Amino acid sequence: MIYLDNAASTLPAGEVLDAMGAAAREHYGNPSSAHGLGAAAARVIEEARAAVAAAIGAGGPGEIVFTSGGTEADALGILGAATRARGRHIVVSAIEHPAVLRTAESLVAQGWTLTAVPPGADGVVSAEAVAGAVGPDTSVVALMLANNELGTLQPVADVAARLGRGADAGRRPHLHVDAVQAFGFVPFRAATLGADTIAVSGHKIHGPKGAGALWVRPGVTLRPLWDGGRQERGLRSGTENLPGWVGLGRAAARAAAFRDGGGPATIAALRDRLERDLLAAIPDARLTVAGAPRVPHISSIAIGALPAEAVLHALEARGVYASAGSACASRARGPSHVLRAVGIDQRTAVLRFSLSRDTTAADIDAAVAALAAAVAEVAPVAMRLSK
Ligand code: PLP
Repeated sequence: MIYLDNAASTLPAGEVLDAMGAAAREHYGNPSSAHGLGAAAARVIEEARAAVAAAIGAGGPGEIVFTSGGTEADALGILGAATRARGRHIVVSAIEHPAVLRTAESLVAQGWTLTAVPPGADGVVSAEAVAGAVGPDTSVVALMLANNELGTLQPVADVAARLGRGADAGRRPHLHVDAVQAFGFVPFRAATLGADTIAVSGHKIHGPKGAGALWVRPGVTLRPLWDGGRQERGLRSGTENLPGWVGLGRAAARAAAFRDGGGPATIAALRDRLERDLLAAIPDARLTVAGAPRVPHISSIAIGALPAEAVLHALEARGVYASAGSACASRARGPSHVLRAVGIDQRTAVLRFSLSRDTTAADIDAAVAALAAAVAEVAPVAMRLSK
């Protein structure tokens, strides 16, 4: 099997699973309990928090709130800030993940107005356009660091600078950043990025599903999404997902070591090989977006007027797993909101190949051969059907 759908989810690392199993078996006490078992469990969570804080470049562990994943971290960052602020306008990029877009739309139903800033044809939103959409009533700006379908990096630091970080701190809007696809691949530091909140997720970095974190800039106050036992500094009630968060801590440390040890350049070289060989092997293929800086592990290829699903099935029959656009968009018909935003029409098939630290050159070569064969199989059928 050749797995090239790592932007959807990754294989959990053996050491992560071992740490989670050991934590679940040994630290079953409730971290809030006053006895020794509880205190030991609380200590283990604090170790995981410190690991995530170090990996994300936080000022300290107290800036990390554990969540049930990237989606909850996005919701807490956006709703937690918006519902505390006076302004009733929110600005997002039009290519945000549904975790951000739908959350922003939920505010519209409650009377907020929403501006969704479109990207250019290169899959990048202009920092000037984002800052230009901000008005006196804007309470939150949400911009992802890397897009999950295209891999394009968004100008978060530039937007932060334009929003006037530091100056008039009480008036400027809250800046929420979804870094789910960037974490482990892009060397940002939370403390200096210019964001107020940053969301990350465990299962994109060989950690567990259902475990994520929100970095919260010191001094920023958020309204919790729900109330209860007031765990996680009151920001997230509910008995802690200790094994999941231990797994996230281990995965984050691993991802940071990989990132800082030159891993992204190795993956980028494999991605470049994939793109070069695919474009040479398939006459109609082109990069969905070109020219913009990207994360190393995501490649989006438009392969011409073909049914993407049929190509994916033909690929899977050859042992290669990829996706059309993104996994989240795969249940919808037609191009996703992201692909539409960069001008992809209804008929064009777009495939996303996403690599991981486990991907090899042999995987890439086999995937290219499999895609060429899959397209050769599907194209004549598609042509006959379209006549
Ligand atoms: N944001 C982005 C950019 C993503 O790619 C994903 C994952 O699909 C999410 C948020 C949601 O994260 P999770 O699956 O942990 O809820």
